[in-house]
Amino acid sequence: MGREQEEQVRGGHVVVMPYPSQGHINPLLQFAKRLVSKGLKATIATTHYTVKSIYATNIGVEAISDGYDEGGFPLAPDTGTYLTAFKTCGSKTLSELIRKFETTASPVTCVIYDAFLPWALDVAKQHGICGASFFTNSATVTCLFHRIHKGLHTLPIKIEDTPLSIPGLHKLDYPDLPGFVKSPDSYPAYLAMKLSQFHNLHQADWIFGNTFDDLELQLPAAEGVCELWRGTLIGPMIPSAYLDGQIEGDRGYGASLWKPLDHKCKKWLEQKPAGSVAYVSFGSLVALTPKQMEEIAWGLKESGRHFLWVVKESEREKLPQGFIEATEEKGLVVTWCQQLELLAHKAIGCFVTHCGWNSTLEALCLGVPMVGVPKFADQYTNAKFIENVWGVGVRAKEEDDKGTVGREELQLRLREVMDGKRSQEMRRNADKWRELAKKAVSKGGSSDNNINEFVAQVCSDGKKRVEEEKHMNGF
Ligand code: UDP
Repeated sequence: MGREQEEQVRGGHVVVMPYPSQGHINPLLQFAKRLVSKGLKATIATTHYTVKSIYATNIGVEAISDGYDEGGFPLAPDTGTYLTAFKTCGSKTLSELIRKFETTASPVTCVIYDAFLPWALDVAKQHGICGASFFTNSATVTCLFHRIHKGLHTLPIKIEDTPLSIPGLHKLDYPDLPGFVKSPDSYPAYLAMKLSQFHNLHQADWIFGNTFDDLELQLPAAEGVCELWRGTLIGPMIPSAYLDGQIEGDRGYGASLWKPLDHKCKKWLEQKPAGSVAYVSFGSLVALTPKQMEEIAWGLKESGRHFLWVVKESEREKLPQGFIEATEEKGLVVTWCQQLELLAHKAIGCFVTHCGWNSTLEALCLGVPMVGVPKFADQYTNAKFIENVWGVGVRAKEEDDKGTVGREELQLRLREVMDGKRSQEMRRNADKWRELAKKAVSKGGSSDNNINEFVAQVCSDGKKRVEEEKHMNGF
């Protein structure tokens, strides 16, 4: 190995492998960018179908296979079949990718894999390299699933089992629990996958969580976040320009599975008074019931407020007839946008959100108060934090057993957050949390220190590899 090669290996090379949905690609890609800014080489390994959606610079992008190279998840007959195919085809193609780099100047030193894809750790170990698991949920939700995996709670968790106390974390009441643990039959394949995240975790060299110490922990976390899940907290993984500014020009994640209507949104927002617009989005996965769609639509219209609503192409037919025409004066409906840029715009006064963990962190980091309308999975738990722990918004009440939030309730909650008695207090809280998030990822902050420690370790592994190779070659 030549001198130049040695230098590069010393820097270390990580392959970062997200689950191929927007809410997973974004935080893992952001982490890869942070690592590059600290001197590592990073390559994103993502499915053939999503590879073209990544346009971040300074990062390598390589395709692996989920077995559905032409169209990804929508082509699979069901979630279980998709995850099995991904495991089979992904293991093979990730292994080939690691092998491909073995003969280059930058062999892979560590695979950072989305915790949804635990088989990647087995592949890393087969190649004798480090594996780091990256959890995209909150630490609270992750700890809860870890405890279920260990048999500390039996499913379904019932109302009489609550409030749930997890040492070091905030108590959870029944409405705060992730949907899967209350109704395990609702999405069995997802639940099985959530639990499988832990089966080989003891072999992981690092475990990362996209959150930060001050955000969720109640006690000093000297021995790890909770008694089981010993995650290293490195979040929030939000483009640097909005927080610490350590990465020059880093204003977006650098990946979009759909084409955002940026120009249209910006132009529209420019004409609106500061703090006057409700931004509404249910993220990349949620499908609303037609009834819920109708209630949101008429709730927004009747509120008389400006609104910018992301309605994905697949959801559009559920909009009430004539709604767009009837609200042209006040509203803009788009199929996708650059959410961060929007949240950062001064015209936005509130975020009506499904409380996906990334959306929650983004609003928190940009100081935007929220109306939570959670729909499934961890969104209920995140809504609890928004309302009760951080005081940066409210959770809308559901009016039926399908979880519908009615039009009057939506208007009431919009008033409360945008100009009610507590709205100023929510804004102050939002500013406080924004500052704490900034502190965590800035030089000397808890997340930044944790990332530095990881980078140092990867570099030292790289050096060791060089020494071993020298030894084997008889130097
Ligand atoms: N997002 C976006 N444009 C949109 C809606 C969402 O860029 O119009 C991004 C958003 O910024 C976030 C991600 O998509 O980073 C959604 O992740 P989240 O965890 O909030 O929800 P999920 O889609 O996984 O349910």
